[in-house]
Amino acid sequence: MKLTDLTDPAADALREARALAAGHSAATVRLGVTGLSRAGKTVFITSLVRNLTGDGRLPFFAPHAQGRIRRVYLEPQPDDALPRFTYEDHLALLAADPPVWPEGTRRISQLRLTFEYTSESALRRAFGDGRLHLDIVDYPGEWLIDLALLDQDFATWSRQALADAAVAARYPHARALLAFTGALDPHAALDEAVAQQGARLFRTYLAAARAAEPHLSTLGPGRFLMPGDLDGSPLLTFFPLPPISGLAISGLAPSGLAPSETAARGSLGHALTRRYDSYVAHVVKPFFRDHFARLDRQIVLVDALSALNRGPQALDDLATAMTGVLKAFRPGTNSWLSRLFRRRVDRILFAATKADHLHHSSHSALEALVGALTETARTRAEFAGAVVKPLALAAIRATREGEVKSGRELVPCIIGTPLAGERVAGVTFDGKTETALFPGDLPADPQVLFSGPATTAAGAADVRTVRFRAPRLVLETSGGGRPAPAHIRLDRALDFLIGDKLA
Ligand code: GDP
Repeated sequence: MKLTDLTDPAADALREARALAAGHSAATVRLGVTGLSRAGKTVFITSLVRNLTGDGRLPFFAPHAQGRIRRVYLEPQPDDALPRFTYEDHLALLAADPPVWPEGTRRISQLRLTFEYTSESALRRAFGDGRLHLDIVDYPGEWLIDLALLDQDFATWSRQALADAAVAARYPHARALLAFTGALDPHAALDEAVAQQGARLFRTYLAAARAAEPHLSTLGPGRFLMPGDLDGSPLLTFFPLPPISGLAISGLAPSGLAPSETAARGSLGHALTRRYDSYVAHVVKPFFRDHFARLDRQIVLVDALSALNRGPQALDDLATAMTGVLKAFRPGTNSWLSRLFRRRVDRILFAATKADHLHHSSHSALEALVGALTETARTRAEFAGAVVKPLALAAIRATREGEVKSGRELVPCIIGTPLAGERVAGVTFDGKTETALFPGDLPADPQVLFSGPATTAAGAADVRTVRFRAPRLVLETSGGGRPAPAHIRLDRALDFLIGDKLA
């Protein structure tokens, strides 16, 4: 039997059995890295790989601190069909003069790291040194929202999508979509120009709603927000039609759904139903089946500080958005998906990124905030079974700490070079000047940060953060050293995610 004849989980098992038989025993851990756009996925993976393969300082990554990791290196990834995470390009940008942050995640990609290590266990050591493959899978969190589509036919999805647009009708783009679709006759002959225009209006509305209110990031379909390789593809030329009879087409609805009525072949309703079904069959299902269902561990990155900058409502919005994203981790959300979960994600790290934007005296409050966000999302999404840990981290530390004198007091501050165009208190930065900033304090009780009865003027966070220029990375020192970016708690993240696999 060829590997290509098998489902992916079966192929994984066979691959490992063959490796064992050939004496190349190496366990594999598939680590998913996700989060909404700009959460910090690309920076996280780039720094993690460099810290592991270069001279990273990782005192809280136990196998590293105990001196049991002998070598970590990149290897060709096992999945030929996936793009490789362009680690070297990202690293080169960080090493440029001036350094530049790499471009963020726009599609799924993968990278394989191999660890050679000495086991803690005498029994395992007796079988020789250990090897572990870590397959890092980077994907947009926006894609997880499409899980809901697996249970919906086109008519059901259309109803929901247009109801969402009606709620957002204060935005002109939502009104434009509603006016356009309201004037259409689904039984009219398909006019491709109309399909294209509808899809364009739909996409523009989604993007505008999302930019205005982050919780609307959970309005899908996910590929309309983050098209990845499907940008411009005919698979994305559909949009919701009003709920009038005759939209479902016999034989084309997703399995398990009884198509109620038929729309004539060649009509607009028929064409859009077909395209929606193709999207579910050829985009959504393959992602969940071939990638998501094969993950062992997951880190979900959250840019809680940007939300804090915008106030209590934005934090509520973020909690709502994270609930939408985390529903995918709830066992039994979807029966098709639960059948696929041979191995289930058993650890999820929920990490607030960019902790270097705050003084360390606020880090535990940031961790409490992400813990509260996790709690909200966990209660709402009701996922169980996985160990979930909150953490505040900075994959790349772009600031250092100091103190400035304010009257008689010494106030803790952070020092860095704000990016050109960033503003604080009416000052616009030029991107070149190092500046000491007081980002403010986070309250110890995160609940006061969310909107609602507990919020008080005194409790609302008085935090202002700006984006900083990346520190310049030296690729190789004259002595042959390979410096790695300074970080905050990247080692603790690693320890939680894979420490036990290297025991
Ligand atoms: P992605 O869209 O999730 O891949 O997000 P990126 O990894 O591209 O990060 C988005 C932006 O956040 C970057 O361009 C940086 O400006 C900022 N950023 C991400 N991680 C860090 C960090 O650890 N420290 C600091 N100071 N900024 C970060």
